[in-house]
Amino acid sequence: MNTDRNQGTDQESDRMIIRNAVIIDGTGGAPNPGYTVVVIAGKIDWIGPAADEPNVVDAQVIDGTGMYLTPGFIDAHVHLTMPAGQLGGARMLDLPPRYGYYSAIPILKATLDAGITTARDLGGIDMATDVAIREGIIEGPELIYAYRALGPTGGHGDFRTCCGFNLGQAVSPNGDIGFLTDGVDQAIRNTREVMRLGAKVIKVMASGGVWSPRDQPWHDGLNVDEMRAVVEEAASHDVPVAAHAQSARSIANALKAGVRSIEHAYEIDDAAIGLMLERGAFMVPTLSTGTTPPDPAKAAPYAVEKKLRLQEKLQTCVANAVAAGVRVAMGTDAGVCPHGTNLTELGHLVDLGMKPIDAINAGTLNAAELLQIDNRTGSIELGKEADLVLTPVDPLAGIHQLGNPDNIAVVVAKGRLKKNLLAAIPALEPVS
Ligand SMILES: [Zn+2]
Repeated sequence: MNTDRNQGTDQESDRMIIRNAVIIDGTGGAPNPGYTVVVIAGKIDWIGPAADEPNVVDAQVIDGTGMYLTPGFIDAHVHLTMPAGQLGGARMLDLPPRYGYYSAIPILKATLDAGITTARDLGGIDMATDVAIREGIIEGPELIYAYRALGPTGGHGDFRTCCGFNLGQAVSPNGDIGFLTDGVDQAIRNTREVMRLGAKVIKVMASGGVWSPRDQPWHDGLNVDEMRAVVEEAASHDVPVAAHAQSARSIANALKAGVRSIEHAYEIDDAAIGLMLERGAFMVPTLSTGTTPPDPAKAAPYAVEKKLRLQEKLQTCVANAVAAGVRVAMGTDAGVCPHGTNLTELGHLVDLGMKPIDAINAGTLNAAELLQIDNRTGSIELGKEADLVLTPVDPLAGIHQLGNPDNIAVVVAKGRLKKNLLAAIPALEPVS
């Protein structure tokens, strides 16, 4: 048996060596240059200085010289069935019901190729896609999904236009992306229903939103009693709740109800920041979507108007929350913004005051903690699943460049080589 297989071969081996890279392990510790990671049977089996590398026979070897090895990243807010930029467009009217399963296939692959080894889908993806990935029928990140988002009649979960066309049904392969929920009894029942269908996170609409035709981000969504019923019912199954909440008032309502994460948080104020800190809740500020100007050619006029008003202060508000030390998990809202450039979000977080090492943690171990999978992924530590990204970019010096998937040279998910540009582009030069 040889120990040095050619890079990029697709010969199957459950052993892999990534040799002599700078390791940034996701825990916030200092980078370790000249380190090697050994993967056996999907798990990280050994980490240490390249000179001490153990003899492992029959392993795929990837030379990490001049490269940086990070954990695989986690995007905590995506909509993988949504074709980005087309919401509200006339084409949506012509999509047949199950088109979303097929359009998701290249999106899932692009997400994985962008360095995302785990994605939390907060409305759209269902059990069929999850099973297809687990069985290897299609390629994609590990999925944690909400299935549908619980929201009130006329609110952000209600994507019916005035004429009755249901935008939410058009973007979801299996029916409505929202789940109309009015009153505590329905809140409990619908929570049970999405959990029955595999949800490992419950999404609630605490405020209105940009894309829903009949409400405003400054309107309340579910009320505190309804959200509290969801939180308690889900907690009995150890399932956390994520709240779409854009106004300061809706953020406070959701936190009072006990949610684990605030999605968007665009108008978070000092009172809400105080509650976030007190409760240890996570903020997922989805800046990739939030900071993108609305395109009048693609977006409905009502969406353009709401988005412009939200953008007036979102950067200031989110920066205040970051400065106050609110826990942040990386999420893009990809599906509303483009898929496949997810790590652009890291640069946005740094632009609003985060240190690059903290932004990396937001996209790795912090996000894993939010998803309650930090016991098995989210960092490069012994015994964890081998979810890894190798890049020629020094993330601490050039974090904005990670958003370009051409700079994501190697992606390993559960110990399997999913992307390897090193074979295809041997001349890839380290950049910083
Ligand atoms: Zn979203």
